[in-house]
Amino acid sequence: MDLTFTPEQQAFRRELQDWFTENRPQGRLDSPYSEPGFSQHMEWETKLHAAGWAAPSWPSEAGGRDLDPWAEFIYDEEYARFRLPERLNKMGLVHGGPTVMAHGTEQQKRAFLPGILDCSDIWCQGFSEPGAGSDLAAVRTTGRIEGDTMVVDGQKIWTSQGVIATTMFALVRTDPQSRGHRGITFVIIDLRSPGVEVRPLGQLHGNPGFAEVFFTGVEVPVANVIGEVGDGWRVASTSLALERGTSRGSQTRMEQALVDLARDTADAGSDPRSVRRLGELAAWVSAYEQAAYASTHEIATGRSKDYSSFIKMLGTEILTAVHEENLEVLQAGAEVMADHGPNNEMFGMRRNYWHGRGAEIYAGSNEIQRNLIAERQLGLPKEPRG
Ligand SMILES: Cc1cc2nc3c(=O)[nH]c(=O)nc-3n(C[C@H](O)[C@H](O)[C@H](O)COP(=O)(O)OP(=O)(O)OC[C@H]3O[C@@H](n4cnc5c(N)ncnc54)[C@H](O)[C@@H]3O)c2cc1C
Repeated sequence: MDLTFTPEQQAFRRELQDWFTENRPQGRLDSPYSEPGFSQHMEWETKLHAAGWAAPSWPSEAGGRDLDPWAEFIYDEEYARFRLPERLNKMGLVHGGPTVMAHGTEQQKRAFLPGILDCSDIWCQGFSEPGAGSDLAAVRTTGRIEGDTMVVDGQKIWTSQGVIATTMFALVRTDPQSRGHRGITFVIIDLRSPGVEVRPLGQLHGNPGFAEVFFTGVEVPVANVIGEVGDGWRVASTSLALERGTSRGSQTRMEQALVDLARDTADAGSDPRSVRRLGELAAWVSAYEQAAYASTHEIATGRSKDYSSFIKMLGTEILTAVHEENLEVLQAGAEVMADHGPNNEMFGMRRNYWHGRGAEIYAGSNEIQRNLIAERQLGLPKEPRG
């Protein structure tokens, strides 16, 4: 594997750096869950969209720039390096929209994709339920089909961005007699419909975007079903694979966290234990970078090796370990550094630490990723179902 970027790739990186330098928001934006913050984030998204940088890896016919996997890798690295705002519509951009591209009709693509790009629709994912997390096939929210309408009843939970979302891609059970993977349908639900109730859920780091979403007799056009009625598991598998996806600039965020840790370790007096731990973590970060390169290489060359579970598991665990060590080094100083925004959301070390703990759970917990690696990559026997 050749780790040098070509002159064209280097020129692309410089083009991005120039654009980000000129156009990036001045200073930190407020939380998108506050009114002023939402407007500030929309302003940034509008700028990205107008310049064609909203979803550059999407195909050009869908509003993207057809970036190849290495150009996307560079885009993600630079976006992280410039510490630009978290994308407002990341679930639509990363997995909702691309799932529509993979399984939707031409009419559905025309209906749904433009709203994701310009953020006139903010998408969220409605998979998890109180009794269906790792065991996602246990979903109980029902979709009763009456002519051209699907009537949805039930509850979703742990809905990221649920508080600001207008649209949910959800899994519902359309065959009441079915169990497990069969009889599930993937459908797009307008959250502004009568019968939808969004209840915010508090989080330890104070970010108020999380929600649980209740459906009571919500009418959804059957035309919003992606794929066939009853074939939602296959469609959801595409969405889940896209969600785990690639490293998405996490190697750059890890390097930044490591640099912060090195600075704090030096400021705290560089005791031998902290220096040794810093060295260990630096080795892990370096290993992760190599894995991120290898993963992109596999995707770019169309090979079959799927690193997504490995990248998701390793990436989230190393980042948590770096944050954990930084809390150890800062001791009580970590509390002082916790910086609160206008809605009492927490920035800084503690926020990053708590966010990292969540990342080990979402997109399929790391225990589930280990199962996937064991069963699908290493060919070990499947875990017994009990
Ligand atoms: C920050 C955050 C954001 C999220 N955002 C969304 C979202 O936007 N939309 C959405 O639909 N969901 C979202 N989720 C939910 C997430 O997908 C689930 O929390 C996750 O799938 C785990 O499900 P659960 O919470 O029901 O835990 P459970 O499935 O009950 O698992 C409990 C524990 O048992 C372990 N476990 C379970 N089964 C196995 C097994 N077979 N082998 C080994 N260990 C196992 C798990 O790893 C976990 O440690 C989010 C979660 C978090 C933390």
